[in-house]
Amino acid sequence: MKIILIGIQGSGKSTQGIALSKKLGVPYLSTGHIFREMAKEKTPLGREIKLIINAGVLISDQKTLLIVSEYLSRPEYVKGYIIDGFPRTINQVENFSNGVDKVFYIKISDKETLWRIFGRQEVREDETMLAIRRRIDLFHKFTEPVVEYYRHKGILVEINGEQPIKAITAEILKALGKE
Ligand code: AMP
Repeated sequence: MKIILIGIQGSGKSTQGIALSKKLGVPYLSTGHIFREMAKEKTPLGREIKLIINAGVLISDQKTLLIVSEYLSRPEYVKGYIIDGFPRTINQVENFSNGVDKVFYIKISDKETLWRIFGRQEVREDETMLAIRRRIDLFHKFTEPVVEYYRHKGILVEINGEQPIKAITAEILKALGKE
């Protein structure tokens, strides 16, 4: 089963991805997590990625596609995966042909995004107000067209992300016929 989770920062994609991975026995993968790990490396690529992430902008489509396809070619992901954070641009969608089954768009308002991120106990290094504002703008500009692309394809399920965590998981499982 190949599942994509789309949502603005703070929407709970990774929480849902981890919960679904356990319930469905399908591996979970997050491009944000992959890039944050790469940003820790003391190499030119690691430093470049760190700068980009902390500024709240996107890694280039070319690099992203290369890294994602390298991960997805690993044996553990051949049968299926739950991916969070990719694709984020139309260019990424158009260059990604991987037989996706369902795409879940976990929708929350911009106000709720800010509320959730700054209400957290721990704020990450890449979570400055400027970076978050940029990510929100980039989501509307580049990722909403991805949502529309999948809606048009008939595989998009939109979920109200402002519900309790368990209710969201249940809604996703229901849409997958796995209640
Ligand atoms: P996230 O945790 O999903 O918000 O990702 C953290 C950061 O990683 C983003 O702000 C981007 O800089 C980068 N990133 C993650 N996924 C992608 C992607 N699909 N395309 C480009 N950049 C990405």
